[in-house]
Amino acid sequence: MSKLTSKLLTLSLLFVGFMSAQEVEPTTPEETEFYEPVPPKVTPGENGAPPSDAIVLFDGTSLDKWISSRDSTAAKWILNEDGSMTVKDRTGDIQTKQNFGSVQLHIEWKSPAEVQRDGQNRGNSGVFLNNLYEVQVLDNNDNDTYVNGQVGSIYKQHVPLAMASVPTGEWNTYDIIYHAPEFEKGQKVKSGTLTVIHNGVLIQDHVEIKGTTPYIGWPKNPPHGKGPLRLQDHGDNSRVSYRNIWVRELE
Ligand code: MG
Repeated sequence: MSKLTSKLLTLSLLFVGFMSAQEVEPTTPEETEFYEPVPPKVTPGENGAPPSDAIVLFDGTSLDKWISSRDSTAAKWILNEDGSMTVKDRTGDIQTKQNFGSVQLHIEWKSPAEVQRDGQNRGNSGVFLNNLYEVQVLDNNDNDTYVNGQVGSIYKQHVPLAMASVPTGEWNTYDIIYHAPEFEKGQKVKSGTLTVIHNGVLIQDHVEIKGTTPYIGWPKNPPHGKGPLRLQDHGDNSRVSYRNIWVRELE
């Protein structure tokens, strides 16, 4: 083999290697089709019922999946005959017995039909993901407040893209997709995210969770693993009701 032939051969081998590394444009449809892994089958719920793989947290029959956040005793909220539950004033928040990380959460809530007080003190409750991050529940109909604390806000962090509440006294739905933050050696290395759909309207679009959602002060980032889902007793006789609560774990 001459030196020139040898050089040409080396060059062409390098070219083939380069082209395979770049992934040559497919020329048949089959090259861009794959069959594994096959996604699991999930049967959707009919008329608002949970899908087949959901963990049902409240179906109207009992508060067995919940405890008092204050002292871990039985949840004290009111179980109604219509399949809902209502915040019992000043009995404290309630939280799930089970801990969750990233989830898809479905929850329905209702402000009391009889309006009382204004601003943050009208039908205030909240859904805390991972026990730390509040999606605000509030009766905002004809009731202005700071927009980063209005209904559907990530409390004091993210203003909702729209105010999509139904009339006061009717049932709202929240469909929430929560991805938990990640921590290494006590430090946050990846922020959590929240997506919220309120009555079918996208109001939080994969927003970055900056940390906890306190009333006073900046968000904090304590390292954590899975935690309970928590519902807020705002402590001012808010009389907010909840029903049809289920989650699908995302990890
Ligand atoms: Mg609240």
